[in-house]
Amino acid sequence: MGKEMALGRKLDLLMSLALDDREGMPARAGQEPPAPLPPRLRHVNDVGALRPLNIRELRPLPGMRMSLLRVLMTNACSFNCHYCPMRRDRSMPRTLLKPEELVRIFMGALRQGWCEGLFVTTGIPGRPVKVMDDLIQALELLRERHRFRGYIHVKIVPGAETAQIERITALASRVSLNLEAPCGETLARIAPDKSFDRSLGTLEEARRLVVQEREAQAYGRPSDQLHPGGASGMTMQFVVGATPDSDRSLIGRVSELYARGGIHHAHFSAFRPIRDTPMESVRATPAMREHRLYQADYLMRRYGFAADELVFDGGGNLPLATEPKVAWALAHPERFPVEVRTASRSALVRVPGIGPATARRIVAERSSAILRGLSDLRRLGVVTTRAAGFLTLGGRRLQTTRWSEQLGFWAADEEAGVPQVIYEVSPGTFR
Ligand code: SF4
Repeated sequence: MGKEMALGRKLDLLMSLALDDREGMPARAGQEPPAPLPPRLRHVNDVGALRPLNIRELRPLPGMRMSLLRVLMTNACSFNCHYCPMRRDRSMPRTLLKPEELVRIFMGALRQGWCEGLFVTTGIPGRPVKVMDDLIQALELLRERHRFRGYIHVKIVPGAETAQIERITALASRVSLNLEAPCGETLARIAPDKSFDRSLGTLEEARRLVVQEREAQAYGRPSDQLHPGGASGMTMQFVVGATPDSDRSLIGRVSELYARGGIHHAHFSAFRPIRDTPMESVRATPAMREHRLYQADYLMRRYGFAADELVFDGGGNLPLATEPKVAWALAHPERFPVEVRTASRSALVRVPGIGPATARRIVAERSSAILRGLSDLRRLGVVTTRAAGFLTLGGRRLQTTRWSEQLGFWAADEEAGVPQVIYEVSPGTFR
């Protein structure tokens, strides 16, 4: 059974394991599933059912590549969020995997070499406490019965009890929580059953545990792969454009949470109108807005930018036409040009086209050699088409116009006239 097998076929075979008590290999190609699936799993492939499994190549940590089996434990939900394909009032085929089924499927995929780690997310049918019990049971089976030491990312549901948050964070490599909006007032408009304070409270409880675990490891306590304590850091998700919240208020909330520690990064999902939801006729958020938020987030996490250094337009949003680092550079002519032979690493990293690793290489190289021209900079990793206009080398300007002034950019109002597209599924479903 080669690795080249089509993803759909792999997933069908994995689903056939859901009820297979033999704990063995997935059914072979061409064989029928070992037992008929129960009604709650028969519609997993129907249109609009949001198939519960997929396999994705991800980078959960810098420098780490990993195939994750991503599992949606159930697409049933008692909540009625206006933007969500799984909302209570929407008619769609509902499916539910029990913890033992989820574990059997994952162990089957692991044995086949189709994945190395697991990501579990879920709707919330009924009480959040019951959903958390099921998630904990799945993780306990994996860690304590099957001794699985690899990466597990699990989505915590708002309203979990303190003891449940402690248990699941102890068992997971990473926990996450969807905040959806940066404040309670706007969350209430799109998710009337959700309480921002409750979500934030749940996130805070997990975040504190992650910080404690990381501190204990930093003080020399060896990590326990079966109980990693969420040490990979939390993530959180926002739906962008479903509420009137500006990028400034999203970035403000994100940066406030980063400052308290324990959060690895934020996810931003551009809103998409889903068929048969109250927001079906609302326009989709431009994908470029999501991209700009990720770029701004990256500047804060990796480049040392503070939230209040970012450049926002009159509406409090990041300019769509200019990437955030270029927008900052253009707003600060007093900081340029930067002299490559003498500038500090922190000054170099602020130049468009120079990242942290490249800035380090420049500083290391110039202590033993003289940098003479654009080709030397290119060799060190500088994107010279972007950087040249912001640099001098030995007092000489490398280019008189800046990259951002040479190019015509895609502009936001080019969206005008694009027909409204309505979707069956949101890209945020599996984040
Ligand atoms: S966003 Fe979450 S809680 Fe809200 S309806 Fe969708 S699955 Fe349920």
